[in-house]
Amino acid sequence: MPVLPFFRRTAALCAAAAASLCLTAPPALSQGLVRDAEIEAVMRDWSDPLIEAAGLNVNSVHVYLIGDMEFNAFVTRGQKIFLHTGLIVQAHTPNEVKGVIAHEIGHIEGAHLVRMQQAERSAMATMAAAIGVGIIAALAGAGDAGAAIIASSPQFATLDFMTYTRAQEASADQAAVRFLTATGQSGRGLVSTFERLAHQERLSFQRRWQYLRSHPLSSDRVAALQRNVERSPYADVEDSPEDIETLERIQAKIIGFMAPPAQTFERYPESDTSIPARYARAVAFYKQGLMNRAEEVVLTLIEDEPDNPYFHELHGQMLFESGHIARSIEPYRRSLELAERQPLLQIGLATALIAQGGEDDVSEAVRLLSQALVAEPDNPFGWFQQSLAYTALGDLAMAELATAERYFAVGDNMHAHLFARRAHDRLDRGTEAWIRSAELLYATEPSAREVREWNRREQRRPNFAEGFRP
Ligand SMILES: [Zn+2]
Repeated sequence: MPVLPFFRRTAALCAAAAASLCLTAPPALSQGLVRDAEIEAVMRDWSDPLIEAAGLNVNSVHVYLIGDMEFNAFVTRGQKIFLHTGLIVQAHTPNEVKGVIAHEIGHIEGAHLVRMQQAERSAMATMAAAIGVGIIAALAGAGDAGAAIIASSPQFATLDFMTYTRAQEASADQAAVRFLTATGQSGRGLVSTFERLAHQERLSFQRRWQYLRSHPLSSDRVAALQRNVERSPYADVEDSPEDIETLERIQAKIIGFMAPPAQTFERYPESDTSIPARYARAVAFYKQGLMNRAEEVVLTLIEDEPDNPYFHELHGQMLFESGHIARSIEPYRRSLELAERQPLLQIGLATALIAQGGEDDVSEAVRLLSQALVAEPDNPFGWFQQSLAYTALGDLAMAELATAERYFAVGDNMHAHLFARRAHDRLDRGTEAWIRSAELLYATEPSAREVREWNRREQRRPNFAEGFRP
């Protein structure tokens, strides 16, 4: 999850994020941006070959998950692909998920956002900026904070406004088939996805799926896509049993975390002893507060697959979030041994170590976070934990530098500047940290107008303590 595993609870998030960003618990089926090491790894595995086939750089194209059960996928500037968890849950095969990803990559490769009308372009730019901040907050593991920003951003509504032209849709379809063929995969999943969406939409009457609003679908288009798909030498290629099992597991995990437990138990009854079913039930028991039953089930998963890092991670998360800090450390440690240097797992273990609070624990957490934050410098939750760790060790200058980084990561330049200044004044001259504080000061230098506005706002506060010192 997020940094911690999946969908953390609101209270934990509110502690992690600036409190003002937190909403009350979001509706069960709409949870904003989510981080999950396992699902992200699967999406990377499935996307990277397609991104390469498109001639794009796998390190510049980012895939994000939005916790929402409606089927949707879209791209924004900056080569960001967004997939709703609903798209994963509703997919019948891995090939369907890959087909939709390939289509979205087709929009990136065709630079379709760039070619939009000016009005749409500026709307998209505003939206992308708003989403950007949301993403960054979510990268923290502060999933709900990201959700809150997105939900409160009126610009997000402009997604409705964004519509690819028919020519762009046809070109993205053709590109998708090209990328799938280049990687030896069938395009039939894309066809079956579109057919099902069109069918569902006819049944639902009152509403248009957001996906179909931005990606207009016509019967001509599906027919043309189908002809194209059938011409590929790989049209008959089927998904591997491993990919099918993987999809079932991540579907079970998403349902476990996002659906009400009663629904999870209906879909995955006790009589189903498969790994996906037990995975979903373990999470659902946990969500019901039945920690003993949840742990019992997760231990059966670990017994079956002792080397699966994500079962250990889930075990650690359950223990940690239910207050069994000391017991959570071993499972987190094991998950990290099995998925070495996975930043979200490093942050998970570090969080537990900081909560444990011994000097050795906290020092180890600092080392883990330092590594994780090289991989994810935009992860505010990681920086928040790093500031807690340095505070616990009595190193206030480094704590302030971590806080400056946290604000910088979410685009709050004024706070970033203030904390970078404090850190800069305290750190030893010439050290790496001191140089970094200078870089942050330079990067966040506010304009005269920003300083005036800041001071005016701050002076209205009852406990006004310091003016802004550029
Ligand atoms: Zn499209």
